[in-house]
Amino acid sequence: MSELAQSQQPASLQAALIDGKAFAARVRDQVKTGAEAFKAAQGRRPGLAVVLVGSDAASQVYVRTKVRQAAEAGIESFAHLLDVATTQAQLLALIEALNADESVDGILVQLPLPAGLDESAVIEAIDPAKDVDGFHPVNVGRLSAGQPSLVPCTPLGCLLLLQDRLGDLSGLKAVVVGRSNIVGKPMGQLLLNANCTVTTVHSRSRDLAAECRQADILVVAVGRAGIITADYIKPGATVLDVGINRLEDEAGNSRLVGDVDFAAVSAVAGALTPVPGGIGPMTVACLLRNTLTAAQLRRA
Ligand code: NAP
Repeated sequence: MSELAQSQQPASLQAALIDGKAFAARVRDQVKTGAEAFKAAQGRRPGLAVVLVGSDAASQVYVRTKVRQAAEAGIESFAHLLDVATTQAQLLALIEALNADESVDGILVQLPLPAGLDESAVIEAIDPAKDVDGFHPVNVGRLSAGQPSLVPCTPLGCLLLLQDRLGDLSGLKAVVVGRSNIVGKPMGQLLLNANCTVTTVHSRSRDLAAECRQADILVVAVGRAGIITADYIKPGATVLDVGINRLEDEAGNSRLVGDVDFAAVSAVAGALTPVPGGIGPMTVACLLRNTLTAAQLRRA
C-alpha cells in the first residue's frame, strides 16, 4: 500500500486501502522500460491493434484510454474503428490481416460486439500468440493446464495486487464470487496455480455468505452494487472488488461503486480495493503488459 493511499484513508477505516491506481502506474513504467529495450533490439516498438465495431459510448471511452496509455508506455497502437454495419466476413478479414502483420504483436477486439456478430468465432480467429486478452481457447487451455499463456487482463491485475500485498499465496483459502470467462474462471485458475485452495461461487451457490467467510482472499466479480456486506468477510481478509456499477441519485448525478459495501467491509477486512481506483486501472496496465509479453515471446 502506498503512503498516499494511507494518507487518503478516513481515520475510521480499519482495512488498508489497496491502491490499484498507483500500482498500475508502476506496471506501466515497467512496460515502458521493456518496450524501450524491445525497440533497441528490434528496431520497432511493440504494436497493439485495437478493434472497435460500432459506436457504444462506454466502449469508445475504453478504447481511447487503451490507445492513450499504450502510447505513453512506448507501445504503438493501431486503432481500427469500424462501422456498426460491419459484417462477420469483414471483421474476420481484418483479424486475418492483423494476424499476418509483423508490426502487430497484440490484437484486442473490444467486447461486446454488436448483435449479429459471433464473438466466439472472432476470438477464435485471433492468432493465440497475439491474443492479449487471453480469451482464445488455446490460452484458456494453457492457463488451466498450468502452462505459460497470455492471461486475461483483469484477473492478472488482481493476482499482481495480491502477490504485492501478501507475497507467497500458497495455502491461502481463496473464494472467487462469479464464474464468467473473462474474470471469475481465469481468476480461479490463477489462484489455483499460485497454490491457493480455491472455491468459486455463483448465482446458484448455497449460502454465499458462509462460503465467503472462509476466505483469506475474496475476489468479487458479480456486477451488483453492495452484494458483499460485512457479514461475508473473515476478519483480516484481503478483498478485491472487481465490480463496476453505475448508481444514479434522485438529482440524476451518477457515481461508480463496486460489488462490495465499501464502508461496512472496511471495518472487518484487512485490506480492500476501492472502486474506482482499484482493479480498473490494473486491467489496462495488464493489457499493455500482455502486449509487451506477446512481442517478446514472438521474437524469442
Ligand atoms: P458476468 O459475466 O455478468 O458474470 C457475473 C457472475 O456473477 C456470474 O458468474 C453470475 O453467476 C454471478 N452472480 C450473479 N448474481 C449473483 C449472486 N446473487 N450471487 C452470486 N453470484 C452471482 O460479469 P463479469 O463480466 O464477470 O463482470 C462482473 C463485474 O465486474 C461487472 O460489474 C463488470 O463491470 C466488472 N468488470 C470490471 C472489470 C475491471 O476492469 N474492473 C473488468 C471486467 C469486469 P452465474 O454464472 O450463475 O450467472
